[in-house]
Amino acid sequence: MLLEGKSPAEKILLETRNKAVRLGFSPGLAIIRVGEDPASKTYVGTKLRKAEECGISGKEYALTAHTPEKKITDLIRRLNKDKKIHGIIVQLPLPAHFNTEKVLNTISPDKDVDGLHPLNLGKLFKGKPAFVSATPQGIMEILNFYKIRIAGKNAVVVGRSDMVGKPMAALLLNADATVEICHSKTHNLAEHTKRADILVVAVGKPHFITADMVKEGATVIDVGINRTEGKIVGDVDFEKVSKKAGAITPVPGGVGLLTAACLLKNVLKAAGR
Ligand code: NDP
Repeated sequence: MLLEGKSPAEKILLETRNKAVRLGFSPGLAIIRVGEDPASKTYVGTKLRKAEECGISGKEYALTAHTPEKKITDLIRRLNKDKKIHGIIVQLPLPAHFNTEKVLNTISPDKDVDGLHPLNLGKLFKGKPAFVSATPQGIMEILNFYKIRIAGKNAVVVGRSDMVGKPMAALLLNADATVEICHSKTHNLAEHTKRADILVVAVGKPHFITADMVKEGATVIDVGINRTEGKIVGDVDFEKVSKKAGAITPVPGGVGLLTAACLLKNVLKAAGR
């Protein structure tokens, strides 16, 4: 089965648009982008366009890489107090000389629609309501939309970033899967991945997961977005793995479509509070 992102993403965007209409005001989303990373520009553009379609007022704060860190944290503090702004995002990665952790921790946990503040990550691991990073949230939406059973299954997450791997593992655990997290220091990775009924891959290396690393009939979720020779490929060797997997997300057209939708869902949640 091909787990396309289009239908679940459209469903979420429609629900979000309807909720925005019912709110009676336009929720505000502030996106801070620092530097000239072309991929970041594209991602921010997509978020702003989709926000507008959902009745959310998105505003980009584009700053140069030379901006002093204090200026960025001061801007975040101002936005924290601004009643018209309900969600704040700092588009990652920040240029290397910034202290990303410090900048992100300045965002009020109530406006942290990317779910990267320690308070939200901590709540997620405790199974309490929290803002959850949009990509892993979107993956749960895909699994639910296509009625993939999670409870009692062996789930293996490859990658342990705060944005994808860790919250993904917490969400799967909260949904009663038995969860393993693998990373660059994992020995014999294939031994782990071959045990997975649900395999989530967020590594950032093209075609990293090959067919011999996947269990027959497994559900394979490919988070990777890798630009190679003018085209975008995932972390999974789709051609060969799709012949063995029971269900698999394509790249493009899979997880990526859910990310913007779930982010906007988070903005509505923040505005509704
Ligand atoms: P990071 O670079 O933050 O994390 C990559 C993870 O992969 C790390 O935990 C790293 O381990 C692990 N890793 C690296 N090499 C290996 C290896 N040889 N074996 C096992 N694990 C390894 O990336 P992100 O989590 O932010 O993103 C991952 C991918 O997902 C990227 O391609 C990114 O573009 C994409 N992405 C896609 C989104 C979407 O909407 N579809 C949204 C966000 C990201 P260690 O911790 O030990 O270094």
